[in-house]
Amino acid sequence: DIVTERAASPPPAPQSDVKISSRDRVIFPDAKITKGELADYYAVVAPIMLPWVADRPVSLVRCPQGRAKQCFFQKHDAGSFGDRVHHVDIREKDGSVEPYLYIDDADGLLSCVQMGTIEFHGWGSRVADVEKPDRLVFDLDPDEGLDFATVKKAAEDLKQHLADMGLTSFPMLTGGKGVHVVVPLTPQAEWPAVKSFADRFARALAQAEPERFTANLKKAERKNRIFIDYLRNQRGSTAVMPYSARARPGAPVAVPLSWSELRDTDSAQLFSVRDATELLERAGGRALTGWGRADQVLPDL
Ligand code: ATP
Ligand code: MN
Ligand code: MN
Repeated sequence: DIVTERAASPPPAPQSDVKISSRDRVIFPDAKITKGELADYYAVVAPIMLPWVADRPVSLVRCPQGRAKQCFFQKHDAGSFGDRVHHVDIREKDGSVEPYLYIDDADGLLSCVQMGTIEFHGWGSRVADVEKPDRLVFDLDPDEGLDFATVKKAAEDLKQHLADMGLTSFPMLTGGKGVHVVVPLTPQAEWPAVKSFADRFARALAQAEPERFTANLKKAERKNRIFIDYLRNQRGSTAVMPYSARARPGAPVAVPLSWSELRDTDSAQLFSVRDATELLERAGGRALTGWGRADQVLPDL
């Protein structure tokens, strides 16, 4: 009857006026997750995702026919997203000005999903001042064959080195293979200084422990090592945002966690699009209190 049916169904998604078409279209064939389910996931996590994704330039991984078909990375507004998705004009290297996308509410998030978006990637700065990053990201990319324990150990070591310089950092599972070590910043230094810090920090680690780390983009340099991808920290680069779904088998999601939770984790794909309610509950818990928040500026290196 109606009462038991209600009890068994997931909690209602927060209201959004955005109409999702083709709700039954299968977006993750392996996990049998539809466009409607993906939209419901984003509607539920919107309150915990928006603090990270709102008001910064975003790039979208769009897969209108699902993750197994053609996907593309979209940086600029093509004018088709409707009035809940906004644009901010940003000067490119060549001097031209391009309209970058940003959103500021759940309707914006869902408008992107309506347009076939699976993944949300963001700049390390906000639209209010795109030249001054509010976070650094060290993207740890393990060579194929390295296990997650090795990645975890690397993340812990980065945390320690950052702490030695007075910097607080936080881990995020990418939903792919690795971990991002996120360093919140008070927007003050501009991109060239922030990139230079990230570059020198990554190189110093690679030089100290060349058998474990490389700061070199070249695939050949990565053999059995972890590439410390500091290049996420240059103007125009993006990193996957907390709670973004990934266009990978099983519909994993990027998830913030505490350092002590990371110690007990053995995969970067701990949560999926099916875990919206659990993610919402977790976000209110003690372990994640203060995640991604620290009032700090980069030291001289
Ligand atoms: P993993 O843990 O599997 O490495 P990841 O999100 O860190 O997951 P990477 O391949 O290391 O994936 O990519 C790092 C970042 O590069 C992405 O988060 C994204 O913001 C950016 N990126 C990915 N694809 C593109 C693309 N086609 N064009 C521009 N930037 C991209
Ligand atoms: Mn990575
Ligand atoms: Mn990378």
